[in-house]
Amino acid sequence: MRQYHTVPLHEKKRIALIAHDRRKRDLLEWARYNVGTLSKHILYATGTTGALLSRELDLEIHRFKSGPLGGDQQIGAKIAEGEIDFLIFFWDPLEPQPHDVDVKALLRIATLYNIPVALNRSSADFLISSPLMHGTYERIIPDHEVVLRNEIERAAKIKLEW
Ligand code: PGA
Repeated sequence: MRQYHTVPLHEKKRIALIAHDRRKRDLLEWARYNVGTLSKHILYATGTTGALLSRELDLEIHRFKSGPLGGDQQIGAKIAEGEIDFLIFFWDPLEPQPHDVDVKALLRIATLYNIPVALNRSSADFLISSPLMHGTYERIIPDHEVVLRNEIERAAKIKLEW
């Protein structure tokens, strides 16, 4: 039985933008440089990041709660529901965050659902300049339920043999 399925990442991508406080200036600069490309997509952001980007760059952005108040978890839920399929997250590797566990959960979900993720500026440059930005891309997603069911069946068989 096939153990994966594919989900299209359409030409118009649904991009989530997040920056920790000491990385906001960097994200703002990056977004200003790429505003033409970003404006062709559907944009989401955590509260403060979104407020800053929409005020400075006049971009239409769907805003969630601020990161420490649950915004990262909201974005993770949207990825799991298939409503966000691209993540640009300038996180701060030098400062512990009150919501570090939320950040870890978000990155886990983004990895699980195999969406493109950039965690620093050079990765974001490579992602946004990829030719794959201009068309549909088929994301391969492992069918975790099938894998789990097979494992349970295998385990049950071993148990029965005992
Ligand atoms: P903010 O949240 O955009 O509301 O600052 C970002 C974060 O800390 O995850």
